[in-house]
Amino acid sequence: MTTIEDPTRALEPAHRRLRIGDVWLAASSGMTFGVEDPATGDVIAEVADGGEADARAALAAAEQVRAVWERTAPRARSELLYRVYEVLLERRDELAALMTAEMGKPLADSRGEIGYAAEFFRWFAEEAVRLEGRYSTAPSGDFRIVTVPKPVGPSVLVTPWNFPMAMGARKIAPALAAGCPTVTKPARQTPLSMLALARILEECGAPAGTVNIVTTTSSGPVVGALLADDRTRKLSFTGSTEVGRGLLEKAAPNILRTSMELGGNAPFIVCDDADLDPAVEGAMLAKMRNMGEACTAANRFYASTAIADEFAERLAERMRALTVGHGLEDGVDVGPLIDEPAVAKVEDLVEDATRRGAEVLTGGERPSERGYFYAPTVLSRVPADAELASTEIFGPVAPVGTFDSDDEVIARANDTEHGLVAYVYTQDIDRALRFAEELETGMLGINRGLVSDPAAPFGGVKHSGLGREGSHEGLDEYVEYTYAAVSRR
Ligand code: NAP
Repeated sequence: MTTIEDPTRALEPAHRRLRIGDVWLAASSGMTFGVEDPATGDVIAEVADGGEADARAALAAAEQVRAVWERTAPRARSELLYRVYEVLLERRDELAALMTAEMGKPLADSRGEIGYAAEFFRWFAEEAVRLEGRYSTAPSGDFRIVTVPKPVGPSVLVTPWNFPMAMGARKIAPALAAGCPTVTKPARQTPLSMLALARILEECGAPAGTVNIVTTTSSGPVVGALLADDRTRKLSFTGSTEVGRGLLEKAAPNILRTSMELGGNAPFIVCDDADLDPAVEGAMLAKMRNMGEACTAANRFYASTAIADEFAERLAERMRALTVGHGLEDGVDVGPLIDEPAVAKVEDLVEDATRRGAEVLTGGERPSERGYFYAPTVLSRVPADAELASTEIFGPVAPVGTFDSDDEVIARANDTEHGLVAYVYTQDIDRALRFAEELETGMLGINRGLVSDPAAPFGGVKHSGLGREGSHEGLDEYVEYTYAAVSRR
């Protein structure tokens, strides 16, 4: 039974528009687009469909406030961010309902994401007052080396639909902390959460022009116009490797600073000495957080042959017990995927794996005709050549394969263009350290199925991205340094 009457009430119709400078505007074309509830396919809200001229207007607003915001005291920037942290937590329930309505994840997960987003504001409120340069003596002793940190300037932020608020929070908070005004383009499927965040920033006192939001169905031309404009100094993108690659090309002519958080293909390795209780628990978290629609989702399970059948069975038992349904309903563990193509892709990958000999332990089907649902699925005896071993599944499917030696599983884990995150379960510290040294990954969970934390440097290697978000490094992504060579008499 649905318990919330109007899940979109956190964002008034007056704010379902472009946020440019200090106003909320209709698109210059007058066009809007519908936002769907993926559990039903129903349109739940209309938002402005911005174009290139709107994007340039947003950039002009950012450029206009740039000098003032750069010189605003770090303490004032910090206090703004801290207020946002507090308001996000105060309004957590209604913001969670809004997020579930547009994205599908169960309410508890949305509440978790609001908390995660809030923590980026708290973390960067703390970092904003700790932006430091260096002073040192040149090795020759002839002069002094002084570095002066400066905000990089107007920053274009492009975010995905899977974490509709947190991915924006971990860009907007450090950008503002460093003194950069921002123009954010959220994903077309989930613009409401980002607009709600912009409204909260406005209410908390973010100066006009520091937080601009352009919602659009024309992301290519809109982002292209922003990157081609020489007022832009920085691109931070979270999304697929394919789109990220194209944006790097578009960022090249203006030599933009770039931070790219791209796709993953995380291996989840369970050694023969692993404690299986926490391994199954961690597998559930690494696979099912966000219905598998996470760049950090465990995509390939490798279990030692000695324990593979038991691990797969226990995982299947846990997956079978999950309740699938509308994320706003009580007791639901698993919501819908984002859209029809997402379900079709998961279906194809499962069919390919079973055709090649994988066994379905649970799931493997659409549980309902309406909405974009796919059942939590465990596949065992998955052959190495199955397509899902090399494709980001982005759905609730856990393919379990086997391995016989650490050499073998390290080679297979590294046999991918991606390198975002990996998970290893073993009780042998030496073995764990070997995995840490030899796995080609930006992040590693050791006996843990969740690595994300605002205080930790999040990011990938290889085709999973450039740069880090969160932690001290996350602030540095929005800072450049002038080095002064100073002679002393
Ligand atoms: P996506 O298709 O790459 O879209 C991401 C963002 O880019 C959206 O705002 C999208 O707008 C925009 N976009 C799409 N095509 C564009 C173009 N030609 N020019 C400019 N912008 C464009 O990715 P997604 O499907 O939303 O998200 C899933 C992907 O994100 C997965 O690969 C996942 O691994 C990755 N991800 C990575 C991280 C990380 O931190 N590494 C975190 C979360 C997700 P539209 O919505 O209008 O298309």
